[in-house]
Amino acid sequence: MLPVAQAETVIFELVQPLGIQDSETVDLVAAGGRILAIAVSSPLDVPHWDNSSMDGYAVRFVDVQFCQPEQPVTLTLVEAIPAGHLPQHPIAPGQASRILTGSMMPTGADTVVIQEQTRSHETGQIVILAAPSERGANVRHRGAFCQAGTALLSARIELQAPELAILAAVGCSKVQVYRRPRVAIFSTGDELVPPGQSLKPGQIVDSNQVALALLVAQSGAEPLMLGIVPDRPEQVSRAIVEAVATADVVLSTGGVSVGDYDYVEQMLASLGATIHVRSVAIKPGKPLTVATFDPEKGGAAEDQNAANASEPRSKLYFGLPGNPVSSLATFWRFVQPALRKLSGLAAGWEPTFVSAQVRQPLRSDGKRETYLWGRLVQGQAGYEFEVAGGSHSSGNLINLSQTNGFAVVPLGVETIAQGMSAQVLQVGQVMRSI
Ligand code: AMP
Ligand code: MG
Repeated sequence: MLPVAQAETVIFELVQPLGIQDSETVDLVAAGGRILAIAVSSPLDVPHWDNSSMDGYAVRFVDVQFCQPEQPVTLTLVEAIPAGHLPQHPIAPGQASRILTGSMMPTGADTVVIQEQTRSHETGQIVILAAPSERGANVRHRGAFCQAGTALLSARIELQAPELAILAAVGCSKVQVYRRPRVAIFSTGDELVPPGQSLKPGQIVDSNQVALALLVAQSGAEPLMLGIVPDRPEQVSRAIVEAVATADVVLSTGGVSVGDYDYVEQMLASLGATIHVRSVAIKPGKPLTVATFDPEKGGAAEDQNAANASEPRSKLYFGLPGNPVSSLATFWRFVQPALRKLSGLAAGWEPTFVSAQVRQPLRSDGKRETYLWGRLVQGQAGYEFEVAGGSHSSGNLINLSQTNGFAVVPLGVETIAQGMSAQVLQVGQVMRSI
């Protein structure tokens, strides 16, 4: 039984992030949540031209620099320049143009006087009451934010709203991102039926698959739901072969304990997989099994001309325990970070732990690192953790609703007293109140 920290190291080291040969070009509108494969530099100066940052008047600083409310300066208006329109007239001494936020500066003008520092303007004239603070005030100069060629986005970051806005602003309508990792999911168990089917005695609904498919999608990967596989060695073996052939990562649930009908580990071994983790000192989730199917030596990898071809990759296999909470908890603790690392993210793929004050005492038998589910709440003085009421049995998913965190009782610790602080694995948005 591996300690959790050791299992985590083994698992995360098995993950080889996608490489450039695993990238594709997508439209900007489809790029949200994807991982950028190639760094992007600006093809343009930003702003593209000198423009006004305020509504006001474009002037020559020398014309207005000494004006004060008692000594106003009157200038002749030559035009109004709406945003998106080219100025038609240069500004000569004694002249000004009406200008709006984002409008292009006319030649000759170097400064904008905000409209609040001006007074009633009769037709053709504007009265300037106070000088702007300095030459160039309220003007955004071409290239002031970034010049063409400046690095904008580094590779291996997730594209979210700010990044999409930046790309759009500099005219990138397509972007090169890593493909989504494919994750095959199947459930094992003679007792399982799909949701919606009526239950015969002894049967239960396969609740794991639909939940894992959502978590896989939320991790930026593409779930492939392969259904339910009976507890028969040859069927389990066939399902593993099919899953490994179609996906980068396989998640199965059930059949990894030491029961008479638990065939997953045995079949993995007989198919030539390397088994790296057989069980972890975690509760829930002890029977977690992790294996790899490594590409055969030779073939494409040895082809001297295949430098750019997609090299065969190791396939990662997670045999998650069947109990509903065990499968989800081990997904959050180990699989989600592994998928995020695989997807190409350079940073921020690791699990997130925060410190929280526990509102109830937390208990464990001290023999395994224990994960108690509940709600992470933003309290007055920091995070607080409200442990879910009801049974914390790995088979009980009924009290899982609204779970956004798992408080951790470390190995060897039996109690964390009420009011003390605990590490909480964050798996959802923190709430302000519950
Ligand atoms: P196993 O890991 O196969 O020994 O299963 C452990 C427990 O989890 C048993 O009570 C199973 O009936 C239950 N279980 C297994 N797979 C699923 C599943 N896909 N959905 C819900 N419960 C499951
Ligand atoms: Mg089973």
